[in-house]
Amino acid sequence: METPIATEIIPVRDGKSITEQADLARAADCIRRGGLVVFPTETVYGLGGNALDAEAAKHIYAAKGRPSDNPLIIHIADVDWAEEYCHTNELFYRLACAFWPGPLTMIMKKRDCIPASVTGGLETVAVRLPSDPVANALIRLSGVPIAAPSANLSGHPSPTTKEHVIHDLSGRVDMILAGEPSEIGLESTVIKVEDDRVFLLRPGAVTYEDLCALLGEDHVVVDRIVTEKVTGDFVPMSPGMKYRHYAPKAPVLLLHGTEDEILSYIQEKTKEPDAGFLVYDEDAPLLSAVSARTLTMGRGDDPAMQAHRLFLCLRAFDEMPDVGCIYARTPSRAGIGLAVYNRLAKAAGFTVVECGKAPETMPEKRSEGDLAHE
Ligand code: AMP
Ligand code: MG
Repeated sequence: METPIATEIIPVRDGKSITEQADLARAADCIRRGGLVVFPTETVYGLGGNALDAEAAKHIYAAKGRPSDNPLIIHIADVDWAEEYCHTNELFYRLACAFWPGPLTMIMKKRDCIPASVTGGLETVAVRLPSDPVANALIRLSGVPIAAPSANLSGHPSPTTKEHVIHDLSGRVDMILAGEPSEIGLESTVIKVEDDRVFLLRPGAVTYEDLCALLGEDHVVVDRIVTEKVTGDFVPMSPGMKYRHYAPKAPVLLLHGTEDEILSYIQEKTKEPDAGFLVYDEDAPLLSAVSARTLTMGRGDDPAMQAHRLFLCLRAFDEMPDVGCIYARTPSRAGIGLAVYNRLAKAAGFTVVECGKAPETMPEKRSEGDLAHE
């Protein structure tokens, strides 16, 4: 890492008080001058820089330790801004009308003012209009689109609280706007928009079902990278999806089977001294004997809560000593459950245990060099 810089940590709530507005004006000024500002959004915290400044983009990659072929999302303050930065079409505005401001990122052909360093050299650019009031005020006051990947060090789960951000990025950015925990807790839905259909590249809180309700099933294609492990020569439409994201240090295993099979498998595994469990709230009583290494992500029928808590849980496992392996419930794929499933499956490298068919072999512990880039 380069020499640490002084990071100013500024508490914010909703950007409405006079002092907060003064702080946001300073943060906006920092962005315009090429600096880096972390800010809250409704999805996860973002690490922002001026999206029109090629150097600022390079600083973002350096601060995160992110490979520079993994393009950045640019954040705008109003739908009217979009045309200046990308080539829009009718479908783009239909989607914007339905889901913006909110957790939907649209990939469109870029305009020349967006530097290649922002898009990883691609001819397309990813655009989002966040609903979070602090994010919106910061972008509006900056007067420029803000390129912002998730504000984690590459290899760590995305940050959903100010504590995560301070842990990862103190000394690497100019300012951190320390707000509330992220409402959604998973990154935005990413779609590639064509003339009459969209490709779902990363599921999020704008769900497959939401897109189908607006466009019809025939016009929504789910890219295989959402649910499958892809290897070898496969070139994903979304470069970031090829990296193994969100991985905690201990290997994660997804539990498959009937409810009874899963519960008895879990009970058997409680005998392992280093087993960790990521389960539903209703499973917790079963696991009280090993509660120190049991984390709950919400009720089985509450995927929104699972989304909200998932990254918090993955980070918490890293803080626990002696967790050798994490056994995780496999979330339902309906609604935002598909996004929870996608992130957890990626954390597990899509490794599944068929609980009715044990014994299985334990995956090996990961080496540092094996860790995710994102
Ligand atoms: P993050 O910045 O961590 O929210 O991740 C952004 C995601 O959007 C990554 O998976 C990127 O690969 C994807 N992305 C950004 N820009 C593009 C683009 N122009 N084409 C395809 N995927 C993109
Ligand atoms: Mg990220």
